[in-house]
Amino acid sequence: MAWLVVALSLIVIWIASIFKVFFGATSSSKAVVLNDGKYFTFFPLVLSFMQQFDDISLSWTSGNKKNVLFVIAHPDDESMFFSPTINYLASNGYNLHMLCFSTGNADGMGSIRKNELHQACAVLRVPLQQLKVLDHPDLQDGFGRVWSHDLLAKIIGEEVSNHDIQTIITFDNYGVSGHCNHRDVRHGVLKFLKTNSERNIKVWELVSLNIFRKYSGPIDIWLSLLSSKRHPSKAIIINEQPLKSYEAMAKHLSQWVWFRKLFVSFSSYTYANTLNKINP
Ligand SMILES: [Zn+2]
Repeated sequence: MAWLVVALSLIVIWIASIFKVFFGATSSSKAVVLNDGKYFTFFPLVLSFMQQFDDISLSWTSGNKKNVLFVIAHPDDESMFFSPTINYLASNGYNLHMLCFSTGNADGMGSIRKNELHQACAVLRVPLQQLKVLDHPDLQDGFGRVWSHDLLAKIIGEEVSNHDIQTIITFDNYGVSGHCNHRDVRHGVLKFLKTNSERNIKVWELVSLNIFRKYSGPIDIWLSLLSSKRHPSKAIIINEQPLKSYEAMAKHLSQWVWFRKLFVSFSSYTYANTLNKINP
């Protein structure tokens, strides 16, 4: 009997969380535009993020586009992990760029996966001319492949200069899944920051969650909101369009096997991102 109560409770929480995703996220977006104190009370973290990120309402009304660069390691990182943030920024007038450091050629399907990334970016509204996928001999996909942080920092610097990037979003120190390529990418961004502090580039990292939170689906939204209250440098972005995330991941046909379908459905990264600002 007890298990039935637990199961029913989980179903109720899941439904309430889905409701929050579809309706709460939309309200918070309105709050950014309207700058209404009432909404501020309910969604302080999204607003906190936007205020730190830059004044979204100002950039929106003036028509200026802010250039944001996502720095990832493999095709599908964007859809599996960063899609709440991509959806949010794409809907709010930001100019999105993406730098993917490999074609994901660990299984010899690099050219196929590169093409899949183009298709996923079309779904996520990242302009294709602003997507760069590298196939560098020293930056090949795979566990045990060590990527030079100096080389990564150099390439990131070129990308920042070429596109007048103001903000970078990337992995944190664990890299969500612990993949060494994800972690190296983050170290490359840090190296770039260290040698370019005068350029005032803002960097946000995607916070890695423990395994229980990682697979709690939309339920993790509540835990993220609670934990972020104690950490003002963190911000939560609730995915306004989780179905779009699913659609984008489905474009990675070579990876779209049953366990990844389950991952996208049950992963909390489909429903929200917690970002941490790593520089002042
Ligand atoms: Zn990856």
